[in-house]
Amino acid sequence: MMGILTGEEGDPVALENGVARGPVVLVCEHASRLLPKALGTLGLTEEALESHIAWDPGALAVSRLMAQSLDATLVFQRFSRLVYDCNRPPESPAAMPEKSEVFAVPGNAGLDQAARDARTQALYLPFRDRLSGLVKSRIAEGRAPVIVTMHSFTPVYFGKPRAVEIGILHDADTRLADAMLAAAGSAGPFDIRRNEPYGPEDGVTHTLREHGLANGLANVMIEVRNDLVKDEAGQRVVADYLAGLLKKSLSAIQ
Ligand SMILES: [Zn+2]
Repeated sequence: MMGILTGEEGDPVALENGVARGPVVLVCEHASRLLPKALGTLGLTEEALESHIAWDPGALAVSRLMAQSLDATLVFQRFSRLVYDCNRPPESPAAMPEKSEVFAVPGNAGLDQAARDARTQALYLPFRDRLSGLVKSRIAEGRAPVIVTMHSFTPVYFGKPRAVEIGILHDADTRLADAMLAAAGSAGPFDIRRNEPYGPEDGVTHTLREHGLANGLANVMIEVRNDLVKDEAGQRVVADYLAGLLKKSLSAIQ
């Protein structure tokens, strides 16, 4: 089996601000729309490859700003979720989706086990291992981290507009999400809701479960409607708001 990534495409996992002193570890599984050269375009049009099905527009930029404000380490996947969605376990069909929203993904149709394994090895395992290594080393240093995963979602899904602007998502451990929703109140600048536009029943809490719940660490997944973070000004407003909310919430639960 040929490897999917060539040496010159580099490490699929990026880690920034590794020497951070703050408790938060930011994770961005859908940071990039880059495809490995070996996979071509997956049979998709340029329009599809620029859209939210390939990545979470704005999520990485917001994460980087939050990493500065929170003095947080940021871990992100450098390749598109269309190749491997790092927020899904290898056995999930959604890890390599044959269809994403209204787009069929021809390059993902009928993948055999060898092809699935190659993608898992190329993108998922390095991501999972880098993050778990970071978490374990922080715990060993006596600085148990807080896991915050950063995402963006499309304002129109299957033709329907979405009113929610920021989603605070959680799985079984609700500590941080509860504190953030309490801190946000109902009079804030954004329409902010619990477990919207997705929730644990949609399978979106894999990273939280794998790295947060499994280690007893406070954790939350944040979903931002991507029209709010399409330019630098919007990214700054949202990042400042979320960093402020996290700071308040972390001091409330400690
Ligand atoms: Zn996402």
